[in-house]
Amino acid sequence: MIKFLPLGGANEIGANCYYLNLDETGILLDCGMHPRKTGLDALPDFNLLKDKPLDYVLITHAHQDHINSLPFLVKSFPHVKIVTTPQTRALAELTLHNAISILKRQINDDSFQIYSHEEVDLLIKSIDYKAYNEPFVITGHRSAGKEKVTAEFYDAGHVLGSAGILISYDNKKIFYTGDINLSSQTIISEASLPKTKVDILITECTYGATDSSTLNDWNEEVERFITSLNKILNRGGSVLIPVFSLGKMQEILATLNLKMIEGKLTETDIYTGGISKKINRVYDYNRYVVNRNERELVLHDIPQKNIYEINNTEDLFKYPSIVLASSGMMNENTMSFTLARRWLREKDSAIFTVGYMDEESPGFKFACANRGDKIKLSESEKETEVRCEINNFKFSAHARREELLEIVKMLKPGNVILVHGDEDAINWVGKFVLKMKKGIKVTSAAVKNEISFA
Ligand SMILES: [Zn+2]
Repeated sequence: MIKFLPLGGANEIGANCYYLNLDETGILLDCGMHPRKTGLDALPDFNLLKDKPLDYVLITHAHQDHINSLPFLVKSFPHVKIVTTPQTRALAELTLHNAISILKRQINDDSFQIYSHEEVDLLIKSIDYKAYNEPFVITGHRSAGKEKVTAEFYDAGHVLGSAGILISYDNKKIFYTGDINLSSQTIISEASLPKTKVDILITECTYGATDSSTLNDWNEEVERFITSLNKILNRGGSVLIPVFSLGKMQEILATLNLKMIEGKLTETDIYTGGISKKINRVYDYNRYVVNRNERELVLHDIPQKNIYEINNTEDLFKYPSIVLASSGMMNENTMSFTLARRWLREKDSAIFTVGYMDEESPGFKFACANRGDKIKLSESEKETEVRCEINNFKFSAHARREELLEIVKMLKPGNVILVHGDEDAINWVGKFVLKMKKGIKVTSAAVKNEISFA
């Protein structure tokens, strides 16, 4: 009997964490933390694992909503075996250490125990890593005498090291997409899918509610982005670009550099900093190891000034500059949020958003604002007038909705479980998957709702 139980995420982009029970071999797929919630609310509901076997955790990639609860899980389940790709392991070491200071800033509740740097070190050491397309056996505590369980990572084309996971057990195949992208970005190339029919497909639905005609092809979006950048820089303005430190930072930095070398973008000082510098290094070390574009490009060698080392924010407006600052969704108390507040006063300058914004995030407020509008940055503050220009670009690291259907077409599953999307997104994908094949079963995952497969 195969059972599937979501502990978090499911019908939202939150603490992605899904429990699979294959005849008493227990596997967790991802162990994320909710990007906007704090304390216990941000974690998957580990209580649901009570009295259930848990042997392995397989992590698809090092984004917060897929990995950041791992240190909390190991506190309660110290025996659990963790497997990731080698790149995700290297990135997790950086992001999990970095998360400690962010958690400390957010939480002043003694009942919620944050993990330590030593615990992260031990956790990283305990991670077993497997390259793409290198199947490995999963042995559970209660699997003696039962069919063998194997797992295999497939390049998901989302960020460095990202993987979809194929699990085989008892002549059945289960594929979990993680966050997946079927088209190429500037650095990361497109996903590669298993060349086999699967029985159960667990698929993300991030862009399920987004009409794809509103999403440009990556290269077209680069052209539009560069034209808009030149316009601001050439009139003496500076551009603030909020980015995630993992993924968008590397893609945008590489894009800016390549366009400056081509002579298509005005030579301008680029500011970066923080953890992204170390993440860039991991991208560089792996440039011949994984399938990617622009292998010759070394992110570390691109001239960059450190945004955390400037003495005075006013310096950023003396000459035109491009500032890549995290967080991508401009959460309060982050560099991008703090700078954006200053940027609003500058009529010649601009804020360019480049990725997905959760509707509840401060970044969404900025993205929706136009020059002349008044926006409220936090509950306690007065409204501020938007004097700078705000332009939105969509550099997507997720599959468009038609591509999600394409995945279903290729893998021919009998059962489809929809995760990682809001209600509208899941409804759209569900509706069209049902039309694809007679008898196909579609379920939208919900936390605590167990689904069984004979
Ligand atoms: Zn992701």
